[in-house]
Amino acid sequence: MSQHLSNGYLSQLASEYGTPLYVYDADTIKRQYEKLQAAFRNSDTVFFYACKALTNINILRYIRSLGANVDCSSINEVKLALHAGFPPERILYTSNGIAFGEIEEAKDLGVIINIDSLSNLEKFGARYGHSYPVGLRLRPNIMAGGNLKISTGHEKSKFGIPVDQIDRILAVVNRYNIRISDLHIHTGSEIKDVEVFVKGIEVLFDIVPHFKELEFIDLGGGFKVPYKDGDVETDIDLLARKVHEAFARHPNPGRKPLQVWFEPGKFLVSECGYFITEVNVMKETSAAHFVSVNSGFNHLIRPMFYDAYHHIANISNPTGPEKKYSVVGNICETDTFAWDRTLHEVREGDYLVFYNAGAYGFEMSSNFNSRYKPAEVLVIEGKGHLIRKRDEFSDLLRNQVEVL
Ligand SMILES: *Cc1c(COP(=O)(O)O)cnc(C)c1O
Repeated sequence: MSQHLSNGYLSQLASEYGTPLYVYDADTIKRQYEKLQAAFRNSDTVFFYACKALTNINILRYIRSLGANVDCSSINEVKLALHAGFPPERILYTSNGIAFGEIEEAKDLGVIINIDSLSNLEKFGARYGHSYPVGLRLRPNIMAGGNLKISTGHEKSKFGIPVDQIDRILAVVNRYNIRISDLHIHTGSEIKDVEVFVKGIEVLFDIVPHFKELEFIDLGGGFKVPYKDGDVETDIDLLARKVHEAFARHPNPGRKPLQVWFEPGKFLVSECGYFITEVNVMKETSAAHFVSVNSGFNHLIRPMFYDAYHHIANISNPTGPEKKYSVVGNICETDTFAWDRTLHEVREGDYLVFYNAGAYGFEMSSNFNSRYKPAEVLVIEGKGHLIRKRDEFSDLLRNQVEVL
């Protein structure tokens, strides 16, 4: 895996801000964005950061400063993006199963909208006709992604309008003369095989001729990053070449070339993130040598929810003898982070760091067990800035209405 913030620096931030603590390294985000930029430098490609991976306002501002656009999955994310300073034309709202009222709100805010149901498309057409461009979120019926929970393009997926319903789509589009500006697919997360994107392009180009005002092809996100040694990252250079070749197979004579959009989430922010916990208790049983840290799936749910692997290191004893441990949390629910994991000898009070914790880490955290959500720190050019305070007791009561 690539270069990390040093153990010493992470320990220093942990003692300064307390644990559990999320730390993000801005340079890593920049490096990932520059990889995308470099690979696609010869083509008309735009990247929309899928901000549901991590929405801290400072992360949004940093990514805006790099030049990326932003992809939102709720109207509140749209409002956060506006608050972060993205102009509406750099904000994409890829909706899914939402009330039409949110689409109206997004339209009033002037952002780009992808619609994912015939029902909302119909309402959109009836309301706005040809006056406001809109994209179609399609389901290409392709199986892709790390596991079923993160696969969104297959035949049993709720996402998008199935492409085989093209006749019904066209009937609605033509009835209201809707101005379709982009066709969108997002087939899943952790896509290793770039051929999946090529297949998606082929599916889209089958129907491109129906849409005369098309300007963009949106291929979604889902680029994989390495979580453990030996894991691959989606080969972005290869992807760029394959996408270029696929578009070259489908010239659009007489029409403006289509711009390509991607919506990377995890790729931009996974590796920038470190989740630092502290060991509360060591417990030997016949089955395992448990290490209980001061966290749980209330702070990092990916191991329990997706069986995700996160590399863990004992940064307080990096040269101690190696032993096997089962790393668990402190909540009243099974919350195993890792089973039979080799770590440098662990002692109570040590800091254990979870790597690749930037994407879907803090963002999926909760107050389960009435524990506080962690603080967040952003490291910019080697200097740490607190970007979210740890919850405090009053946060647990905030919004509760005490009627008894
Ligand atoms: C979640 C999501 C993404 C980002 O997925 P990653 O695996 O984080 O890259 C992109 N587009 C849409 C529509 C999404 O819902």
